Amino acid sequence: MSDNETREIFITGLKNAHAMENQALSIMKPQVKRIENYPDVAAKLEQHITETEGQIARIEEILSGLDEGHSALKDIALSFTGTMAAMGHTVAGDEILKNSFANFAFENFEIAAYNSLIVIAEAGGYNAGSNGLKANLAEEKAMAFWLEQNLAAVTERFLSLREAGEEAKV
Ligand code: MG
Ligand code: FE
Repeated sequence: MSDNETREIFITGLKNAHAMENQALSIMKPQVKRIENYPDVAAKLEQHITETEGQIARIEEILSGLDEGHSALKDIALSFTGTMAAMGHTVAGDEILKNSFANFAFENFEIAAYNSLIVIAEAGGYNAGSNGLKANLAEEKAMAFWLEQNLAAVTERFLSLREAGEEAKV
């Protein structure tokens, strides 16, 4: 494959990752506003929102380094992640659980996207880009791990809040 083709594939992948990260913000920000009874989840989401803003900056920096500036960025909603997001928006009593599943799915989607994009970066010899993507990947893995570890505690808290009569409170 020609260098030009690899570059084009890399740039497309970066633009998709940029759209993915903006989608991540649009999933997490409304959740954080609604959470009242799960302060540790809210704090973790706040932390990951800040990380995600840094991830977007890293992607934009890589694109700038390729002479693909911000003006070239037009984010397109991803259908899979859109479905995940919609799942989280259902206003039911178990919203916190559905959001926990959707967030875990989304982080794993991000992990797959970065793993693939790093292979493309390395195939094209974009070492600086690869480092930034690895930094993003490490944050997604940490978030996915936290969500996985915390699911039992969230579920137990959901059950005890239900028992105490806190019906639909997130
Ligand atoms: Mg991310
Ligand atoms: Fe993430």
